Formats: sequence, structure tokens, C-alpha cells
Amino acid sequence: MARVLIIGAGGVSSVVVHKCAQANDVFTEIHLASRTKAKCDAIAESVKKRYGVTVHTASVDADNVSELVALINKVKPVMVINVALPYQDLTIMDACLECNVHYLDTANYEPIDLAKFEYKWQWAYQDKFKEKGLMALLGSGFDPGVTNVFCAYGQKHLLDEIHVLDIIDANAGDHGLPFATNFNPEINIREVTARGRYWERGEWVETDPLSWKMSFDFPDGIGPKNCYLMYHEELESLVQNLKGIRRARFWMTFSDNYLNHLKVFGGVGLLGIEPIEYKGQSIVPIQFLSKLLPDPASLGPLTKGKTCIGCVMQGIKNGQEKTYYVYNICQHEDCYEELGSQAISYTTGVPAMIGAMMMVTGKWMKAGVWNMEQMDPDPFMEQLNKFGLPWQVAELPNK
Ligand code: NDP
Repeated sequence: MARVLIIGAGGVSSVVVHKCAQANDVFTEIHLASRTKAKCDAIAESVKKRYGVTVHTASVDADNVSELVALINKVKPVMVINVALPYQDLTIMDACLECNVHYLDTANYEPIDLAKFEYKWQWAYQDKFKEKGLMALLGSGFDPGVTNVFCAYGQKHLLDEIHVLDIIDANAGDHGLPFATNFNPEINIREVTARGRYWERGEWVETDPLSWKMSFDFPDGIGPKNCYLMYHEELESLVQNLKGIRRARFWMTFSDNYLNHLKVFGGVGLLGIEPIEYKGQSIVPIQFLSKLLPDPASLGPLTKGKTCIGCVMQGIKNGQEKTYYVYNICQHEDCYEELGSQAISYTTGVPAMIGAMMMVTGKWMKAGVWNMEQMDPDPFMEQLNKFGLPWQVAELPNK
């Protein structure tokens, strides 16, 4: 039914490609390209072994629009699934426009020299995609992605208005290493060390990085954990699209060990994004640090435990105050057993595949640039249950 081109061959990509192969009634031809073709070949080999499905591979520099255009014109996919890095979002969007193909990603564009997460650069493509009758679906991972869909579900089925939203992301897994990030280290550390920001009565309030914390009692035996307030990109679109929203915050759990390492790295300048000169070479400290850290894709066999990501939504239903918690629990060991991946790559890759499935099957096909909560949550939520990310709804006491 659909030929797709997936760009990027890291931890998330591996899950996307395997999941597309599982859904090979929808994704009838899968192409995978990245900077390093050997990484694409390794994923293709694993898919062949597990499902007998052929994945076609190529190399591409996704910073280069003409290289992308040449590849897209050769492959002629219906859409491109971008699971390279956020730095490549705009070049891939430009190439999609030039070649008349649809676009999907899992993280918003970030200029490499700015460490700033904003949708403004991608929202600026709205008219271009509309005029060409093409769709760009932004942030189809877990957070952003499934969290936006949980909010759309809350708005459609649970509450008439959502007044207070807390998105809470817990990785209660343990890899046993001194320090590792569970997705691309550079992107992860830039995100975590940015200033905190939340929405309160019509405006953004800033906090020092990781300066606010709360304890949340997670379900399914995970128990209470410290969660730190961070800015996260889905807040930007959600505060525009949720009717009646008064406060929106994002929280993530971190162990004391993780935070202590970050403090030391920051203290000695290893988190810098400005290049420094070393023996005649220009080195960006955070990129050097990233090279030293474990490849997130290698954490699969090591990580034990669960992730729990969900949305606590407090608001009004039929004039009564209600609070609901919509969440998913994912077990690292199960992800590894199924696909050889850890749960963070898994929870990002599955929704990327489902977003693409929504587009190519026409359930979500709509010209323009869209965030996930702007689509009907029901068909997406149905596929989450089928493809390994079942969700639960709990009613919580009002605060
Ligand atoms: P990885 O670093 O594991 O993989 C990134 C891949 O992109 C690598 O294969 C890399 O190639 C490739 N790449 C980088 N630059 C280029 C380029 N110029 N041209 C072609 N390929 C390139 O990252 P992850 O898999 O962990 O993350 C992928 C994406 O998913 C990121 O954008 C991340 O922000 C996002 N994400 C989203 C989440 C969500 O919930 N929404 C959660 C986690 C991640 P090579 O290896 O050859 O350098």
C-alpha cells in the first residue's frame, strides 16, 4: 500500500523500521537511509532475520537538501519518516516540499548553535505544505507525541475543559552504568539542562534548570519518585490547542546519580555548545562528551525496569471537577526481547510508525503542518494497544 523512506539509523529508527515491517500490510516497501549506511544495513539485517522483510538501504547527508532530493526522487516514497536529529528537520521538510512527499518527525527543530526548542521554524511551513496539498506531522514520538494524543483523548472523552495539565515522565529503568542517556546524548543533555518553563494563566513562567521538584507515586509497583520540572516542546502547542487550559507543566524523573554527573560535567565546562580550540582543532565540548558516553542503542540488553509516561488532567466534566490520569507502562526487558531495543527508543519508535500509519491510511491525512493533538486520538490510541504500548485511564482524587 505505501512505500516509505525512513531517515536516521539510531535507536529510535531501529524500532520504527522493525514496527513498519510488523505492519507490512500498510508499509509494503521500506527504505532506510542515514549518514552511515552500515548502521542501516545492520537494522535491515535484523528485520530480515526477525520478519523476513527486505529493507532497502542507502547513505544520505540529511543536512544537504540536494542530496535528500536526489534520494527521495529515486525512492519515490509517499512520505518521509524523519528519525535523524532535530537539526535536520528543516532540510528534510524542504526536500519533502520539493519532491511532493509527506513528512513526519519526533522532535522539533533546534538550531545547532542555540539549544532552543520552539515550533516557530516548523510552523512557518504551514502555508507551503497546505498549498502543495502535503501533510507534515510534528512530534510523533512519545513525549511529544503520545502525550499530545492522551490530551486530545482527555479533551474528547473525559473532560469538557482541561484546566491543569501535568505531563509526568518516569524512567524507572536501571542500566547499571555510571552515566548514560537513554536517547541521543547531545540532544538529551541540551534538553535537560535548559531553563525550566511552564504555562500559568496565559503566560510562560521560567525556572532555573531542574530547580523545582515534586514526588509522584507511580502506578504498577514503581512507587514514589522525585520528578523535576522541565520545559518540554509539546507544552508549546498544547497550551494553544487545549480549551480552557490554565496551567501546563512537564516533569521528568532523574536519579541523584544522574544529576550529580550532570553537575560535574557542567562545572568543568563539558556541557558547552560553543566550539573551543584544542591542539589546532575546533571541538564542541558537549559533542566531545557525547562521543565518550554509551550509545543509547547499546543499553537494550542492560536496562531492567519500567517506564511510565502519562498525563494528569484536571478539569470540568458536566460542571463537576474531575482529575484523570492517562498513562502507559513499558517494560525495558520486554522491548529488548521483542526488538533488541530499550524502552525509550521503543516508546518513541512505535508512535512514529503509528503516526505514519495514520497518514498513509488516510485516517489523519490533512494538508498543512500539524501537532498530534490536532488529530482524532481514537484511531491512534487503538493502534497503541495493538503495537505494544497499551494505555490505562485512572480517576484520581481532585487536588
Ligand atoms: P541517535 O543518535 O541514536 O540516532 C540519530 C541518527 O541520525 C543516527 O543514525 C545518525 O547517523 C543520523 N544522523 C545524524 N545526522 C545526520 C545527517 N546529517 N544525515 C543523515 N543522518 C544523520 O538518536 P535517537 O535514535 O536516540 O533519536 C532520534 C530522534 O528521536 C531525535 O531527533 C530525538 O530527539 C528524537 N526523540 C524523540 C522522543 C520523543 O518522545 N518524541 C524521545 C527520544 C528521542 P550516524 O549514526 O551515522 O551519525
